[in-house]
Amino acid sequence: MIDKKGILFILSGPSGVGKGTVRKSLFEKDTDLKYSISMTTRPPREGEVDGVDYFFKTKEDFEQMIADKGMIEYAQYVGNYYGTPKAYVEEQLEAGNDVFLEIEVQGALQVKENFPEGVFVFLIPPSLEDLKNRIINRGTETEDLVHSRLQAAKEEIEMMDYYDYVVVNDQVDRAVQTVQSIVKSEHCKRERV
Ligand code: 5GP
Repeated sequence: MIDKKGILFILSGPSGVGKGTVRKSLFEKDTDLKYSISMTTRPPREGEVDGVDYFFKTKEDFEQMIADKGMIEYAQYVGNYYGTPKAYVEEQLEAGNDVFLEIEVQGALQVKENFPEGVFVFLIPPSLEDLKNRIINRGTETEDLVHSRLQAAKEEIEMMDYYDYVVVNDQVDRAVQTVQSIVKSEHCKRERV
């Protein structure tokens, strides 16, 4: 029997590992994946567009979506809400399209509870030293924050066992190619006549 439903792919990993960069690069390539645009209460950064990068919402609107059970998952991250609206994901999966989420670890664990058939991909840095350098190089964190982000990242890395695949982000292009191979291989797994 051919399973006509789409596959849900979840890319997650510790703070600072480069999930956003890998996701953007993946979507610059020719892909049939549908990106689920997240909702957030954080203000837009320069160049970010509402409805493209995120749906930027007020705290009140976000909390209303939670109350209306309109989110697949959500988490608070550095003082703001981030979450995945349910309707788009469900519509696309039903229509047979693959959906791609790029979210932090707490949210990914919630998705795992509700969509155990999802494909969970964990992006890791080549080393903790490398992660520390990435966080420092962002230049947005004080020394204390670098320390607490690194501590949080160590705890997040322990969640690796819940994932189906682990991808080392040593080079963005290579990580993207690996994610593309995972997508192909998951299709082959489900291919039936
Ligand atoms: P940023 O503020 O840098 O865009 O994102 C901060 C973190 O939130 C990143 O780790 C990103 O992967 C994560 N994130 C983005 N969208 C979502 C979402 O819908 N749900 C969850 N749980 N995390 C998200």
